[in-house]
Amino acid sequence: MIRVDERLLESLAKDKDFNAQACFNCGTCSALCPMGLGLLPRELFRYVLLGARDRLRELSDVIFSCLLCRLCEANCPRGVRITHNIRTLRSYLVKDEYRIL
Ligand code: SF4
Ligand code: SF4
Repeated sequence: MIRVDERLLESLAKDKDFNAQACFNCGTCSALCPMGLGLLPRELFRYVLLGARDRLRELSDVIFSCLLCRLCEANCPRGVRITHNIRTLRSYLVKDEYRIL
């Protein structure tokens, strides 16, 4: 069962630079990512839009594996601030999911 948090996007978008909503799932980022993770970043952003908190938690190792190299971001046709979004997801996991800080 997937826990759906209908306020997940609202919570993340308090950061005005967070713009995962702009992603239209073209796949360019995943094709270019040197980590070959496949999931990053478009699937992460889909899970945000769906409010799938559990999926984000399950993918925390992937989220923290991103090199923040911006190769994806430089080629995104929608101007998605991918690395900033990923940083925001990291903060969310640390503070709201794992409650470390
Ligand atoms: S390249 Fe940009 S628009 Fe395309 S899937 Fe990735 S984040 Fe979304
Ligand atoms: S910033 Fe992260 S997701 Fe984007 S290409 Fe680099 S390693 Fe992959």
